[in-house]
Amino acid sequence: MAEPSGTIERLVRPAIRGMRAYHVADPGRLIKLDAMENPYPWPPSLVTEWLKAVGAAQPNRYPDASAGALKKRLCRELGVPEQAGLILGNGSDELIQLLGMALGGEGRSVLSPGPSFAMYRIIAGFTGMAYHEVPLRGVDFSLDGDAFLAAIAEHQPTLIYLAYPNNPTGNRFDAALIDQILDVAPGVVVLDEAYHAFCGASYMDQLIRRPNLMVMRTVSKMGLAGLRLGYMATHPDWAVELEKCRLPYNVNVLTQISASFALDHVAVFNEQTACIRRDREVLHKALVGVKGLQVWPSEANFITFRVSGGGAGVIHRGLMEQGVLIKNLDGSHPLLKDCLRVTVGTPQENERFLEALEGVLAG
Ligand code: PMP
Repeated sequence: MAEPSGTIERLVRPAIRGMRAYHVADPGRLIKLDAMENPYPWPPSLVTEWLKAVGAAQPNRYPDASAGALKKRLCRELGVPEQAGLILGNGSDELIQLLGMALGGEGRSVLSPGPSFAMYRIIAGFTGMAYHEVPLRGVDFSLDGDAFLAAIAEHQPTLIYLAYPNNPTGNRFDAALIDQILDVAPGVVVLDEAYHAFCGASYMDQLIRRPNLMVMRTVSKMGLAGLRLGYMATHPDWAVELEKCRLPYNVNVLTQISASFALDHVAVFNEQTACIRRDREVLHKALVGVKGLQVWPSEANFITFRVSGGGAGVIHRGLMEQGVLIKNLDGSHPLLKDCLRVTVGTPQENERFLEALEGVLAG
């Protein structure tokens, strides 16, 4: 293959040259507790019905470009009027990209607490936006209100992202502070409710009185990560603008049918979510009981903890050798030194993880 010598340096934008592609670990045959997925497969009876529904798809045709039926179904589920501005993405990652494309460019900036979801920074980088971060408090990962409000005044951010609950810290920021942020923000505020199912709290009902609020969610954590579907509710005037940057067929035909089908059977997924919430508490209690760990509470489907004696990387590798994959957060942010994040799995998977962890810690 001929080498494109010189042309890459000349043609690829410097912002992109300075980046590294997002790396996703290959789980192989490991117990996969690294990516906040729902660990439960669909019940066989549901799979049979789903295959029938998907069998009616016409893959030779493009999907409904506006995903009308799915949007209607989602509005019903969310209790928002059908004329509300709902935008769908290939995962909420794509919605973050869409916001960057519509609002980004020279002189525009994104503000977020840190550590938070990595895509906010990455996408700001390739949509020409400066990224500003206000560090969370190291003890409990709470948001320093004075510092955040000062950062808003200083940077006048076009976009503010608040993950609620936050990834990777698992906590929700103070509601009175979020109200203050919504009051003073000069631009758009996105409440990223990816983990809504695991805490119940939401800003969806504030859309009616907050013109620059957008509430973003995903079906990934409720048991549909493979479908790739994110959605964002906002004022219809905002939706008109954002739709200009959305590719016409971004939600494919199988996803549209499968997501509508899943919403018609949402009780199954709600039950799985309830199990995950219950098991989160069991796992949290067990981790708190393990010597040498600092464990934070979580309102999401994962738990973040620190290996107090250091060596998170060694523990992470040791767990992999024992057949368990979790996420090593060490090195991803100064506040996450020696931190690891485990997704809540099935009770059996959580047990396997705990056994392996105690074994690895005992050396
Ligand atoms: N927001 C947050 C806070 C997340 O943690 C994630 C996934 N890790 C996403 C958005 C992206 O979700 P999706 O699978 O819909 O792209």
